[in-house]
Amino acid sequence: LDTKAVRIIRTEDDHLAHNYNPLPVVVATGEGAWVTDVEGKRYLDLLSAYSALNFGHRHPALIEAATEQLGRLTLTSRAFHNDRLGAFATALANLCDKDLVLPMNTGAEAVETGIKVARAWGYRVKGLPAGAAAIVVANGNFHGRTTTVVGFSDDPTARDGFGPFAPGFVSVPYGDAAAIEAAITPNTAAVLIEPIQGEAGVIIPPEGYLAAVREICTKNDVLFIADEIQAGLGRVGTTFACDREGVVPDMYLLGKALGGGIVAVSAVAADREILGVIQPGEHGSTFGGNPMAAAVGLRVVEMLESGEFQQRAVALGEHLKAKLDELIGHGVTEARVAGLWAGVDIDPAIGTGREIAERLLTRGVLVKDTHGQTIRIAPPLVIRATELDWAIEQLKVVLEG
Ligand code: PLP
Repeated sequence: LDTKAVRIIRTEDDHLAHNYNPLPVVVATGEGAWVTDVEGKRYLDLLSAYSALNFGHRHPALIEAATEQLGRLTLTSRAFHNDRLGAFATALANLCDKDLVLPMNTGAEAVETGIKVARAWGYRVKGLPAGAAAIVVANGNFHGRTTTVVGFSDDPTARDGFGPFAPGFVSVPYGDAAAIEAAITPNTAAVLIEPIQGEAGVIIPPEGYLAAVREICTKNDVLFIADEIQAGLGRVGTTFACDREGVVPDMYLLGKALGGGIVAVSAVAADREILGVIQPGEHGSTFGGNPMAAAVGLRVVEMLESGEFQQRAVALGEHLKAKLDELIGHGVTEARVAGLWAGVDIDPAIGTGREIAERLLTRGVLVKDTHGQTIRIAPPLVIRATELDWAIEQLKVVLEG
C-alpha cells in the first residue's frame, strides 16, 4: 500500500521517537465531534484527545477567543504582567470557589506544582520536619509522565527503567478510604487522588469514597488534592468530578480541556493559606499564564459557567449507559459510565481493546484502548445523540465480528 496516509506515517516512523503506538489514521482537519483524514475519510472522535477536546474540535467561541488574541499578543513570560491573565485567574478561581490559581501548561506540570505546594505547606504551615513530608496516592493512578510522577505509579510500563525515583510517596488501594487513613502518619502533607481514575479504565470509586477521604483529610490536617485533569471540566456531568459527592478538595489540579484543545493550559487552584505559601522565584514556567492561554482559558471558564456542557454530559451519558448496558454479555463484560465517559471492557474471546479500536477505525469511529481489554469512550460533549447512536451501532457490528 502506498497511500498518502502510509507515506506520512512512514516519515513519522523514520524520525519520531517511538513513545506512542498510534492507530493508523492521519488526521488533517476537525470540526465538532468529527475529524477528516488526509484521504478525505471522516471519523467520529470518541476520544477527544483524552478529554482535552471536551468542547469538540475548533469550537467557534474558542477559535474566536484564540484568533482575537493571536492578533494582539501571544507571550510575555511572567517577567511582566499581561492584560489577559488577571481576568482568567479571577474567573478560574471563581469557578473553583478558591482564592488563588497557579497557571502552568501540561497536566503533569500541574501535578508537580501540587506536590511542591503541598510539601511547602507541610513545612511552612503544618510544621513538618525538613525533608519528611509524605503524600498518599492510590494504586492504579495516572498523573503524568515526569520522573517524580511515574515514581509513584504502579504501572511497570510507565516506571520500569526510569528510576531512581523521588521518595515521599506511599500508595494504597484505590477506592478504599480506610487504607488512606491507615497510611497517614504525622508526616503526611497530602492525599493525591483522581476522583475517577481515567487511564486505569474509567474506574469509579465506591459511593462515599470521596466524602470519606475529605473527612479523613480534614481530621488529620492533611491536604486533599483532587487530580481533575481528565475527569473535570464537564466530562462527568458536573464541573468537577468531586461535585458528584458534593466534595470540595483543598486543591484542584486542572488541565486538558482548560486549554480548549487549542493551547496547553493547566492550573492548580487552592485557597490563600495553601497556595499563598509559594514565594516569588520558587516556582514558575516560561509559558505558564501566557496571554494566549489566558484568553482561551477564560473563554473555557465562561462556557462552563453556563452549565450547558455539564447538562449535555448528563443527558448524553444516560443515553450512552443504556446503550452500553445492552452490549453486556454480547462482547462487553463490563461498562463503567460517569457522565459522557465510559470504560468498556471487551470480552477477550472477541479480541483485545486494541483490535476493537482498529476495527472501529475501519468503520469511521476513533477510540483508544487502555490496559489491554478496555476501550475508553469520551466523546466531545458537543456530540449529538444520533451520532452517539451511530457510533454504538458500529461497536455492536464490530463486536458481532
Ligand atoms: N493527570 C491525569 C488524571 C491525567 O489523565 C493526565 C493525562 O492523561 C495527566 C495528569 C497528565 O497530563 P499531561 O499529559 O497534560 O501532562
